[in-house]
Amino acid sequence: MTPRSATTYDALVVGAGFGGLGAAIALAEGGASVCVCESLRYPGGCASTFTRGGARFDAGATLVSGLAKGQLFGDWLAKYSPSTVVDWMDPLVELRTGDFSLEISRDRESLVRSFLAIPGAPARAIRGFFDFQRSIAASLWELFDDPTLLPPFGPRMVGRHAGRALRYLPLLPLLGRSLGEVLASHGLADFRPLRTYVDALCQITVQCSADEAEATFALAAMDYYYRGTGHVRGGVGALADALVSACTQLGAEVKLSNRVTALRRAEDGTWIATTRNGELRARTVVANLLPSALAAMLDSEAHAHAITALRARSSPIENAWGAAMLYAVARPPEGERDDAHHLELVNDASAPFAEGNHVFVSISSALETERAPAGRRVLTMSTHVPLAKLARLGEGTAAYVAEVQNAMRATIAARAPEWHEGLERVLPASPRTFARFVGRPAGAVGGLPRRAGLASYSSLGPSSPLDDVWLVGDSVFPGQSALATAIGGVRTATAITRRLGASVSRAEARDGVASAPVGVVATRA
Ligand SMILES: Cc1cc2nc3c(=O)[nH]c(=O)nc-3n(C[C@H](O)[C@H](O)[C@H](O)COP(=O)(O)OP(=O)(O)OC[C@H]3O[C@@H](n4cnc5c(N)ncnc54)[C@H](O)[C@@H]3O)c2cc1C
Repeated sequence: MTPRSATTYDALVVGAGFGGLGAAIALAEGGASVCVCESLRYPGGCASTFTRGGARFDAGATLVSGLAKGQLFGDWLAKYSPSTVVDWMDPLVELRTGDFSLEISRDRESLVRSFLAIPGAPARAIRGFFDFQRSIAASLWELFDDPTLLPPFGPRMVGRHAGRALRYLPLLPLLGRSLGEVLASHGLADFRPLRTYVDALCQITVQCSADEAEATFALAAMDYYYRGTGHVRGGVGALADALVSACTQLGAEVKLSNRVTALRRAEDGTWIATTRNGELRARTVVANLLPSALAAMLDSEAHAHAITALRARSSPIENAWGAAMLYAVARPPEGERDDAHHLELVNDASAPFAEGNHVFVSISSALETERAPAGRRVLTMSTHVPLAKLARLGEGTAAYVAEVQNAMRATIAARAPEWHEGLERVLPASPRTFARFVGRPAGAVGGLPRRAGLASYSSLGPSSPLDDVWLVGDSVFPGQSALATAIGGVRTATAITRRLGASVSRAEARDGVASAPVGVVATRA
């Protein structure tokens, strides 16, 4: 039983991943009383930094966008954590395949010039494609830079979108088409270097190949490198720490090492969470979880219908991708650059960009002395693993994951021999690791692949599978990156703040009390 005097929060956020932290900050900024419960000792989930054997490794995400002034993370850092340092390295990534290598600069024009310099490159078609890509991405990234343009819409938003209608017109012919079709329409279907570049980029952003990817999402994702993208000094966990600090400065409570195991509705309609350290009560629950993980917390009789719907919703994600990882401490090659940087390695450009054939390598900077022993660097290396295949294998799962990790090592040895030679301590991880540590059912990461088809647009708003229970994270639009999940969290918080505000106003009208000012919702009981 929860004692009658217990705090009733406006919102309980389950999970301090970027979706949960984004929601918590925006809710607290809106005046809500917020409690965040995180099962691990540190925040960030798939975008966290963990310690093993004295070294600090990024668990998954390493290269985060939205860090510049005027963007979500950039503005939060300026306001709540000005001492957090962002390194703006250039080039951001070096793509290496058997045929060519390409330095991906922060400057789009120099990337275009690199393609033009490749012998036999179709210059006019390349220019035309990148001009088109830039214009499509520009109209979509405006929505990321000003998330109030995303659902839920207020009354003024209809007017703002109507005023922008001309900018949306070029998007219409793209709906339901793949990026592969767009490349073909520009005469670029057979220009192999560009295909390899976009396939690699699509795999790490929209989670499928260019031929499969919905063109609008993929063309927007192609701007990933130019949108305030950088390296957070100390590892991506330093950004998660900064967001936790923002929460606490705003009066939210953040309870680390406090796993939530069950959620039930009390008679008065509030939600009661069973946690490792006792029960908590809240008017609203924000679940930074995959839908099936939320389903597992609910009472199977009281919420049978919602549980079935949540499981169905999780299934395409849990049949998409997991990640195989190698975390390493390495001796840097002679003359190695000092800054943090990234290598994207492709062993065979004609084979699928998964299962060790494609490896993303993130290397810490020499300045991050707290992350590795003296003179050493830490590396996070990842590849996609198809979960449907993993599920079919049953008992053979461990052997298959070991095979994928061997393929990763072979790709690293072939494309980045200078780093392969220096590897000293290598820690492997698998989808099982993500399931165990980050609570991702089946180890599913990366959200729903954005495959071509109108289904991609069927749910673009916040998601509330049960009364006063909301999902955030990479299963909810826009999903699929640290920035996108945080933006989704902010939009969900807007919807919740409106609802909480409305219910306060209703209660006050009923009790004959003057209405609360907009944005100020009920505080603790
Ligand atoms: C290998 C890899 C590389 C990536 N690279 C990049 C990149 O370079 N850039 C980028 O932007 N994105 C990248 N991503 C994607 C990015 O990491 C994710 O999109 C994002 O971090 C997902 O955030 P989320 O809010 O959905 O939740 P998660 O990160 O899954 O966070 C959920 C949180 O909830 C906690 N939790 C779970 N169950 C409970 C419970 N019962 N009680 C309390 N807490 C609980 C977990 O511990 C976790 O902290 C990468 C992902 C992976 C896996």
